[in-house]
Amino acid sequence: MLVPICAEPLADGAIVTSAERILAVGTRREMTRAFPDCPVRVYPGVLTPGLVNAHTHLEYGPSFADLARSGLPFVKWINTLVGRRDAMSQAGWLADARGSVRAALASGTTAVADIVTIGPGIVAAAEAGLGGVSYVETVGVDQAHWPAERARLTAALTVGPAERRLGLSPHTLYTVDTSAFRGILALARDGGRRLHTHLAESADESEFVLSGVGPIARTLSALGIDHDLLERGAGCTPTRRLDAIGGLGPDVHVAHGVHVDAEDRALLRERGSSVALCVRSNRILQAGTPAVADYLADGNPIAIGTDSLASSPSLDVLEETAAVFAVALAQGASPQGLAARLVDAATRGGASALGLPDAGILRAGCRADFAVFDVPTDGDPYEALVAHGGGRCVATVIGGRPVSEPADSGRRS
Ligand SMILES: [Zn+2]
Repeated sequence: MLVPICAEPLADGAIVTSAERILAVGTRREMTRAFPDCPVRVYPGVLTPGLVNAHTHLEYGPSFADLARSGLPFVKWINTLVGRRDAMSQAGWLADARGSVRAALASGTTAVADIVTIGPGIVAAAEAGLGGVSYVETVGVDQAHWPAERARLTAALTVGPAERRLGLSPHTLYTVDTSAFRGILALARDGGRRLHTHLAESADESEFVLSGVGPIARTLSALGIDHDLLERGAGCTPTRRLDAIGGLGPDVHVAHGVHVDAEDRALLRERGSSVALCVRSNRILQAGTPAVADYLADGNPIAIGTDSLASSPSLDVLEETAAVFAVALAQGASPQGLAARLVDAATRGGASALGLPDAGILRAGCRADFAVFDVPTDGDPYEALVAHGGGRCVATVIGGRPVSEPADSGRRS
């Protein structure tokens, strides 16, 4: 079963690839007739475009997984995470990032929006041929430290490997002072680079942006970060604040979007900014639950992100999609077409969020990035993918090259 996303599923579908690209898509009979000399590989189950993980941190890999089980609430969790960072070696960061990449590939992911805090995440993604964007992160920077941070970012963007697309990530509205945040937006846009930030993740963030007080204000003061919103706030929601400083647009996608209202959602739609939903991370960090049913009903562009192993049980995008599906149903979304809509978010929606026009769909000319899931094919393939796809990836192909193909996949050539 072939699920091209940009067209109806094909029960006896086939794709023909040439080098890194898809040459043609059709029924197996049509493809065999048009390309009689082409070697055939038959897969079981459902073949989809490669999944797009629209928000993760590869560097926070397997050695941080205990934090996802720690039960710490958001601000304590982030303080613990920052404390643990200092103890990691460069070799440790690279090993963790590689561990995350293996987990991503093994679950059918071919592109990621990866937040890079240290640097080895770029190396691990590039060497695996993973698609998507590595967003070099800025965290804990105020006006006084912006010139040095600007120089660091400029250097990081210059030396990055040619095979990996780089963007910028101002961490949040509360860990990056407004002047530095604006500086990062300008630096990215001057270089034609994409942007990605955490937005409206916790109630503490909303309190700080509104009035400049609360647990986040206390943490910033303790760290000596001279944030311009301290004790003042911006008097509005995080989404409206981000828009007011020029931080929304079709070149920006945001992670989480938990604490948003109808006006915020309208703003995100008008600006063309997608939201990467990460409901399992939100639950683990006790940050709340995004209004998935409202996002769907309002027609917001959405994508699916797992977040990192420090706040998520896995990097499996279909496991995350199943969790988003359950949240949507519980919030009253109609089950009619829901699975198809969310598989779309996990593929084409993610590609759109990252600005990847030739990924997330199976169409001639697009990248030959796809994944195969050993799920039932006797019913709706979207429902099968959501209900059974998690942990059932049997092959992942990037640019026409198999990158993860367990020996027991049942594949025959
Ligand atoms: Zn994150």
